[in-house]
Amino acid sequence: MSAIKERIAAINAEIARIRPNAGVRLMAVSKNRTRAEIEEARAAGVRLFGENRVQEAREKWQEKFAIELHLIGHLQTNKIKYAVTVFNAIDSVDSERVADGIDRLAAPGVMSVMAEINPGREAAKTGMMPEALKPFLANAGRFSHLKFDGILAVLPQPRDSSREESQRIRRLMQETAEIWRMCRSEGWPWAPLSELSMGMTHDYAWALEAGATMIRIGEGIFGPRAQQG
Ligand SMILES: *Cc1c(COP(=O)(O)O)cnc(C)c1O
Repeated sequence: MSAIKERIAAINAEIARIRPNAGVRLMAVSKNRTRAEIEEARAAGVRLFGENRVQEAREKWQEKFAIELHLIGHLQTNKIKYAVTVFNAIDSVDSERVADGIDRLAAPGVMSVMAEINPGREAAKTGMMPEALKPFLANAGRFSHLKFDGILAVLPQPRDSSREESQRIRRLMQETAEIWRMCRSEGWPWAPLSELSMGMTHDYAWALEAGATMIRIGEGIFGPRAQQG
């Protein structure tokens, strides 16, 4: 078995152990990866991929060979016109401005999107402040070409391996899951919010425990990546 295939099997086993039969989806984050590496993940059964740069995705994914491709990185307004054609979903809607742009350029179709939040209130991260999410979604019915299928969250990197730090991150994850459930229970027709996309290589087990329905794994599938985005 290839290393990629083995790592995918191990992650699927963890998902099955922590959240048996919950239908959790594994997204392979393929930024900076070659087509051959992506092909291996696909051969191992992965059907959901995430990229964080529009330009890279445009070059790499000219034919999508029967998979689902999501954008998970910040979207600049001048790239929206490409993003709506390259991606099946845009999971990183972090402002009214981006939502407006997608709404305009996705017409006459409907684009599946997620609202991104910044649970740790980190200045260096994109995403709405947690308390801004509900008012944003409550007003999102005015976008006739957007369907809010979920919430995406990127948690802070733990500062150290202490118990306090892990508890801090896990608490933020639980709060994020609560906000997601609260918004979903509003029953907004434009925001079914079936997905909570949360958890990466280093913290996905905590995210699954907190209620994530989709985890986004890069290094844990493809191995360490060269330093950069
Ligand atoms: C790169 C990236 C991931 C995957 O991170 P890993 O640590 O490699 O698992 C997940 N989500 C987002 C938004 C990313 O940019």
